[in-house]
Amino acid sequence: MITADCHLHTTFSTDGESAPEDMIKKGIEKGLTVMCFTEHMDYGVDYEEGPDAFQTDTETYYTTFCNMKEKYSGNINLFFGIELGLTPSITEFIRHYVKKYPFDFIIGSSHTVGGIDPYYSAFFEGRTEEEAYRLYFEAELACAKIFTDFDVYGHPDYVLRYGPSQNKNFTYQKYGDILDELMKTLIQNGKGIECNSSGFKFGMGHPLPHTDILKRYRELGGEIITIGSDAHKAEHIAHSFHLAEEALTRCGFRYYTVFENRKPVFYPIQNN
Ligand SMILES: [Zn+2]
Ligand SMILES: [Zn+2]
Repeated sequence: MITADCHLHTTFSTDGESAPEDMIKKGIEKGLTVMCFTEHMDYGVDYEEGPDAFQTDTETYYTTFCNMKEKYSGNINLFFGIELGLTPSITEFIRHYVKKYPFDFIIGSSHTVGGIDPYYSAFFEGRTEEEAYRLYFEAELACAKIFTDFDVYGHPDYVLRYGPSQNKNFTYQKYGDILDELMKTLIQNGKGIECNSSGFKFGMGHPLPHTDILKRYRELGGEIITIGSDAHKAEHIAHSFHLAEEALTRCGFRYYTVFENRKPVFYPIQNN
């Protein structure tokens, strides 16, 4: 059983719906031993909601986290993380930001390409789905080459959630040239990928990324895999973890990873 949820948003994220303490209580109730909070920090993006729409107030977030960690120390291990939106124009910001706080874990995610989030249909306008997916994976590859200040790449095929036919026409082969280079770059740089169980919640039948990507990452020698529900409210904590566990086992993983003080700690997937 997977007992660590390492991708969680509370009301410290603009789109988070549950207070940190409510999330913690629910996590304990669900039998988790580890929770790592990863609020949004998307710097330098001109969101419709405003340029700082997805930037957490890190100072207050950290203070609150420390209080909670102490209060619940006998019940659960809490870790301090962040989900950084990666775009090539913010290397300076990221370099300073990650040094400013004692993060346990940093997820690097591509939420926008050329300033547009694939969440918005504008991303797919004037492009075939294949072109749009290719563009997204190329952007991830560019970020994987530029940035080192992160531990795992978050939901590596996030774009599949929002494409006109989602994953229906996705095959690894179609994008294999870029995806292979992405996986190899991450592995060479000692970075992992995330197994984001929200794919099941979105009815995709697999975690993000697709099991073909997970399998290939493993084949190429990738070992660092963290698991997160990407819950934005308490009820979604550890969502579909049993399915994520099954998928990882099928893809050849025997361990999953939890980051503490930016160092990977390996936990056995006990099914094996
Ligand atoms: Zn994300
Ligand atoms: Zn997230």
